[in-house]
Formats: sequence, structure tokens, C-alpha cells
Amino acid sequence: MAEYNYEDNPICPHCDHEHSRDFCDESGKYTCDECGEDFNVSVYVEVTYSTSPVSCGRGKHTYEFKEKWLRNQKSTTHKGKLVFIDLPEEEHKHFRIMECSKCGEKEYVQISKTEYDDID
Ligand SMILES: [Zn+2]
Ligand SMILES: [Zn+2]
Repeated sequence: MAEYNYEDNPICPHCDHEHSRDFCDESGKYTCDECGEDFNVSVYVEVTYSTSPVSCGRGKHTYEFKEKWLRNQKSTTHKGKLVFIDLPEEEHKHFRIMECSKCGEKEYVQISKTEYDDID
């Protein structure tokens, strides 16, 4: 009788039959497809981490100017598809996009066309 450790696939310790990955997805007692003997499987899952900054919270951001943005289209759904329609010039909206230097949260501040044009 053998013992296998950290293999790519679960291998039966009785008959050395290599099972596919979907033979089991959690640790426990399993029965070999080949010889019918029971054996224990320990499944090791690689741990990975994702991180993102914590939001500073309302009123606590440190906003800095990021870019200007002109809203000159509106989105609508036509026959179940998302389509964009160009707005006439008098319906254009001008924004200053502010971004918090600590958490990256964005704020869209609506501004006048004059103010918008003054930003390089
Ligand atoms: Zn077996
Ligand atoms: Zn923030």
C-alpha cells in the first residue's frame, strides 16, 4: 500500500489508479473507481488574495481633480440592446471628475460650460 502527497490528481493508495480532478472536490473518504477500496483524500486549495482600499466614508474623502468629462450622449435600450443617442448641444452636461487620493472613490461635479472650457 502506498501513500501519495501533493499530487496533481487523487491516486488510489491501493491500486495506484489515478483519478481525474473531478473525482472529488472536497476532503473525505472516497471509493476507488478501479479496485473498489476506500481511501482518504485531502484536498488542498491554493489560497489567493484580492485587496482594495477601504472607502474613507461620506465626507471624509480627499478629493483631487482627475479629469473633465462631457456628457453628450444618453443611453437607452432599443429592442433589448443598449444604444447611445447623441444629445443636442443645449443638453450637453459638463462635469469635473474628482478622485479621492486615499480610496479612489470618484465624484462627478456638474459645472458650467465656461468652467469646463477653462480646464485644460
Ligand atoms: Zn484503487
Ligand atoms: Zn476616499
